[in-house]
Amino acid sequence: MIKVGLLFGGCSGEHEVSLVSAKAIASAFTQAGNIEKYQVIPVYIDKQGSWHSGETAQQVLETGQPLETAVNPNRWQFPAQLSQIDVWFPILHGPNGEDGTVQGLLTLMQVPYVGSGVLGSSVGMDKIAMKTAFTEAGLPQVKYMAVSRSQVWSGPCVFPKLCDEIEDTLEYPCFVKPANLGSSVGIAKVRTRQELENALDNAASYDRRIVIEEGVNAREVECAVLGNDYPKASVIGEITFDSEFYDYETKYTEGLAQLNIPAQLPDEVTTQIQEMAVKAFQTLDASGLSRVDFFYVEATGEIFLNEINTLPGFTSTSMYPRLWGATGVPFPELVDKLVTLAQERYQEGE
Ligand code: ADP
Ligand code: MG
Ligand code: MG
Repeated sequence: MIKVGLLFGGCSGEHEVSLVSAKAIASAFTQAGNIEKYQVIPVYIDKQGSWHSGETAQQVLETGQPLETAVNPNRWQFPAQLSQIDVWFPILHGPNGEDGTVQGLLTLMQVPYVGSGVLGSSVGMDKIAMKTAFTEAGLPQVKYMAVSRSQVWSGPCVFPKLCDEIEDTLEYPCFVKPANLGSSVGIAKVRTRQELENALDNAASYDRRIVIEEGVNAREVECAVLGNDYPKASVIGEITFDSEFYDYETKYTEGLAQLNIPAQLPDEVTTQIQEMAVKAFQTLDASGLSRVDFFYVEATGEIFLNEINTLPGFTSTSMYPRLWGATGVPFPELVDKLVTLAQERYQEGE
């Protein structure tokens, strides 16, 4: 039996999503074909960063209810059970999990783990670093600017000049984003100077690093990538919704967004998106899995790379597993493949 440490929860705004993803993954390991091969050991990181295994972790996994704990002074005492784990399956979204921090810890533990290593995870998480890497690789992206919290909070002498510079460089509407979050947290669409100022101030409260992008009027399409050195791209999925943009509420309120798989696209657009998804994955030296998101401007035929997510949502209704389902890799086979990829990467040496 391969003991899989399912690492879930985490110190991020996407804690709850992680719980749902983890439950779906745990269930996939109990399906025929996997149940004989794997034993899942749930390991839960609560919102304060403390690690739990055994019954506590099992209970959180089953109920989907986060554990409300006080700050634990012993949070670096890892449960003893951890030493039995053969391969880790981290399913932590956002900071402190998708960003290379946990990957660094697992690398130090010298145990294989699913997904990207430190570099791919950290560059993939930070929208400024990610965009710089994609620009270098010649991948098309919307026009953007990077600013820092210290510039935004610099006071009445510097801040107006910063806003002037943004207005000179980019056309409204713009999107203001904290660089290191996900799930659209802290993101605003702005159309006026006043909205820009407020959005910058708000984004600065989330992150030291901020991105401002020119808005595009485009279809939102996503491609799933699976593999290590020879990554494969899935069919393309499209997200449609009525709201102003794909914000937090639209993402997590049932019925507000529709996933259309496969997206109705000209064949050459599909092929181009798949090639760009693989190139984005390789540019960051990602491994295992990633979901790569694009804007497709139907009127002009332009495709812009929006972002890569190295630990995408993995619930039974999430885009990543559904894209693979539509490509011929059912959910239980997908988790099995991911574990094998983790073991292969570890054996080959990073
Ligand atoms: P997150 O990592 O939080 O998902 P994204 O950069 O993907 O952040 O932005 C979230 C959503 O905001 C996108 O799915 C899209 O609906 C909207 N959005 C972001 N940037 C742009 C842009 N430049 N033009 C149009 N819509 C955008
Ligand atoms: Mg993201
Ligand atoms: Mg996104």
